[in-house]
Amino acid sequence: MPGIYIHIPFCRKACHYCNFHFSTNTKQIQAMSEAIVHEAELRKDYISGKVETIYFGGGTPSLLPLEDLSKLIATFKKLFDVDPDAEITLESNPDDITAEKLAGWKEAGVNRLSIGIQSFFEEDLKWMNRAHNATQAEACIHLAHQAGFDNLTIDLIYGTPTLTDEQWKHNVDKALSLGITHLSCYALTVEAKTALADMIKKHRIEDVSADKQGHQFELLMQWMQEAGWEHYEISNFAKPGHRSRHNSSYWKGASYLGLGPSAHSFNGTSRQWNVANNALYLKSIEQNIVPFEIEQLTPEQQLNEYIMTSLRTMEGLSVPYVQLHWSDKQAEEIVRDAEKFLQHNLMEHKNDRLILTQKGKLMADGIAADLFR
Ligand code: SF4
Repeated sequence: MPGIYIHIPFCRKACHYCNFHFSTNTKQIQAMSEAIVHEAELRKDYISGKVETIYFGGGTPSLLPLEDLSKLIATFKKLFDVDPDAEITLESNPDDITAEKLAGWKEAGVNRLSIGIQSFFEEDLKWMNRAHNATQAEACIHLAHQAGFDNLTIDLIYGTPTLTDEQWKHNVDKALSLGITHLSCYALTVEAKTALADMIKKHRIEDVSADKQGHQFELLMQWMQEAGWEHYEISNFAKPGHRSRHNSSYWKGASYLGLGPSAHSFNGTSRQWNVANNALYLKSIEQNIVPFEIEQLTPEQQLNEYIMTSLRTMEGLSVPYVQLHWSDKQAEEIVRDAEKFLQHNLMEHKNDRLILTQKGKLMADGIAADLFR
């Protein structure tokens, strides 16, 4: 079930913590969308089979003019075998959301809206340097419902120095009360070369606390369990029947075509990524050359990716799957190495699957790395 990811590399304002590829100079947005159409034409044979998901990420795809978004979706439908029921997601920011834009997105074929809320508290949003305010954070969700978007997901960030446990509870309760069907929650991470890392280094702001993040993640898991939502991936929760099909296919190792600067693609055995530079990308595509680097994945690397991604999901790692796609020996070694995690109640072995417990989810990356071959 292949998918298409489109990276729209523009943002209104630079959030202090962000290390994605984007530019705040939006002058070339139209030229970029034309280049992405052209890249899709150049790479139409990269994926085969029915395209089941299309995902506009970034950056800020909600900055795209409506006619450009419509043209991109129409191009994909022309070049690829897009399933009539394909999930088409658009990432958006609250400050871009208007009734007119929502109607246009629907008309263009978007059927799942993802909104970068991050927090309903003004102080938190200011600390992150978000472009929207607390009033817009709530109002845009009502607007999206009025426009008929019932497949609605929002992002929240926890672990910021400005967010107390009570405020975190308020953010989660508020999100659940607004009728969304999917929730993604991320611990604030301090990435190198971001404004946040710089400010912390210069002691201009308080550093983030790993203990506080772990505690707020535990609280989150408890509240979402009480609310009856599926914790189907470390950072993702869904009401039954509303998992993200696009992200789920990444975690299942499906192939995907990534278009636009910095976008990654995967075809089952190799991973490639486009240049993370808007000017170079535009110039290269104009010359009919896709500017990318590529890495062929060894069977061990593919197995390690499977270990990492499967352990993050509620279905966990399937031992028979490892036997089938790699070897009996590797499956046996993984089960042997997992023993210590089973003993410490960090993992369960159920129906031939290794599944992280709530306690284990707090250290998912470390556990996965320990099981790497
Ligand atoms: S809007 Fe998203 S992509 Fe843009 S700077 Fe903020 S976090 Fe990064």
